[in-house]
Amino acid sequence: MGVQKMKVGERMRIHEYLDVVKKGEHEFVVVCRECGTEICDASENYKLHVPYAVRDPVELGYRYVRKEWNVYREYYCPTCATLLQVDVVNPKEPEQDLRDIEVFVDGL
Ligand SMILES: [Zn+2]
Repeated sequence: MGVQKMKVGERMRIHEYLDVVKKGEHEFVVVCRECGTEICDASENYKLHVPYAVRDPVELGYRYVRKEWNVYREYYCPTCATLLQVDVVNPKEPEQDLRDIEVFVDGL
């Protein structure tokens, strides 16, 4: 079996709540699986394009984690508010580039 390239209009699941859709010959976007909202270009980190909430570990029931060490960052779909991902973040490094997926569209 050879590698089959995606056709325009096809979608590929990349994450529990996210798909990559081929919109054009060289155009790929990340979309929410729940509501179909286009979040960003597939080469970008979707987390930079969705709203997030910072939660204190105590609020979530973690009694031995201090918010000075770690906070929980919850990423949501901007349209349907599905919780896409939760990251544990060092609050002193708020701008870290937390990628859990990286899509190389050249092969698609
Ligand atoms: Zn959505």
